[in-house]
Amino acid sequence: MTLLGVLPRDLVVDLARGAIDSARSSILKGGKPDCSNDALAYEVLRQTLRLEKPSLRRVVNASGVIVHTNLGRSPLPESAVAAVEEVARGYSTLEYDCAHMARGSRHDHYERLICMLTGAEAAIAVNNNAAAVMMVLAEFARGHEAVISRGELVEIGGSFRVPDIMALSGARMVEVGTTNKTHLRDYERAVGGGTALFVKVHPSNFRMSGFTESVSVKELRRLADELNGRGLASGVPSAVDAAGAVDARRILVYEDLGSGALTEIKADGLRETTVREALAEGADLVSFSCDKLLGGPQAGIIVGKKSLVDALKQSPYARVLRLDKMSIAALEATLRLYLDDATARERVPTVRMLTETAEQVLPRTQAVRDKLATVLSADDVDLSIEQDTSRAGGGALPMCDIPTYVVRVTFKHGDAQACERHLVAGRDVPVIARISNECILLDGRTILGDSEVTEIAQAFKEYFDRM
Ligand SMILES: *Cc1c(COP(=O)(O)O)cnc(C)c1O
Repeated sequence: MTLLGVLPRDLVVDLARGAIDSARSSILKGGKPDCSNDALAYEVLRQTLRLEKPSLRRVVNASGVIVHTNLGRSPLPESAVAAVEEVARGYSTLEYDCAHMARGSRHDHYERLICMLTGAEAAIAVNNNAAAVMMVLAEFARGHEAVISRGELVEIGGSFRVPDIMALSGARMVEVGTTNKTHLRDYERAVGGGTALFVKVHPSNFRMSGFTESVSVKELRRLADELNGRGLASGVPSAVDAAGAVDARRILVYEDLGSGALTEIKADGLRETTVREALAEGADLVSFSCDKLLGGPQAGIIVGKKSLVDALKQSPYARVLRLDKMSIAALEATLRLYLDDATARERVPTVRMLTETAEQVLPRTQAVRDKLATVLSADDVDLSIEQDTSRAGGGALPMCDIPTYVVRVTFKHGDAQACERHLVAGRDVPVIARISNECILLDGRTILGDSEVTEIAQAFKEYFDRM
């Protein structure tokens, strides 16, 4: 009766049928479920509570993995959050040009900023970088050949695999070189009448060492210029020809940069190429993610020659893969912070976390230890502070150790696995930590402020209170 007060009758009936169905199929499989009225009613209640509780929730990330794809990658800067809230609540200038009192373009909100920050002639932002890659390949190499090194046929996070995206786009993939070594002459030999693109893909989540060699964008640029001068290739397909902007018999150089660093980010002696540097190497087009090293919302940006970006803007893919007003608001606000490098380092959380030294992280780690010490008993746990390593995540700076400080929680009662289960599965706001040698490690680097420190302490206290 009470459930009917909370949810519509049809829904409660559906949930009741579902509970009976699952009991029935359990019996058919030889199980002996509790089929009492109470048990079934309890199951309906449980399902109802699940409906009431949001599935997508905030978590506290104490794992030390900064761009954690499973945890939503980049936390947004405050100004981006405010911008999202503002446009989400009401109407906006999304496609309205107030200066001309006429229809405007959604690209106008971010394009000028991106061009200023990267030196590009033009830019378009779409759903994510996977979409950007797909769009470039489809627009400029569908039915033509895209030449790529075997060392760059990468898989990033399961469902993004370069060969699969190539196939989906309708581009004919021409693999050159070997896994570890590709030379300029490999590209040269592969070029034929149907070649439209040289594609470079950032290896992102792995590193090759030893007997390796790859060809830079600079070298590919030189080769493309030479071949284009000789008029060897058939070049880009009709969409661009129709726009009238591009010479049809031309090989383009495209780089999928993966993480789009707009400012210098280094770790462990390695640094990511910035978008500006990638363009300066001579690529016609460069694409990158907005929620990795850039620290903005989920989006993918394609920058490069104006005639080419204009062709992309005209493509049906631009409509299919376009960004919504909330992402554009977040993107614009995030990009604006980069106008001043120091501001970006301070206010873009991802950039701040990536560039803080271990000594800057230490006070936050100490705050976690101190707070835990006030709520937990020394009979239950040992708390110590240790040096450890954070990770960039998000397919950037792979295997790079970023020095950090962690709290090590050693259990005298209970155990790390059971405590972790409570931290993650037992609360509305999960706390994600790391386990090492039967201890829980909490990395101060990815903890966002005092309120999260309090939440972590509260979560541990709950575990011991329930023991
Ligand atoms: C991460 C990545 C992608 C996919 O980008 P999303 O924004 O996650 O869609 C594509 N290519 C490279 C090289 C990457 O690192």
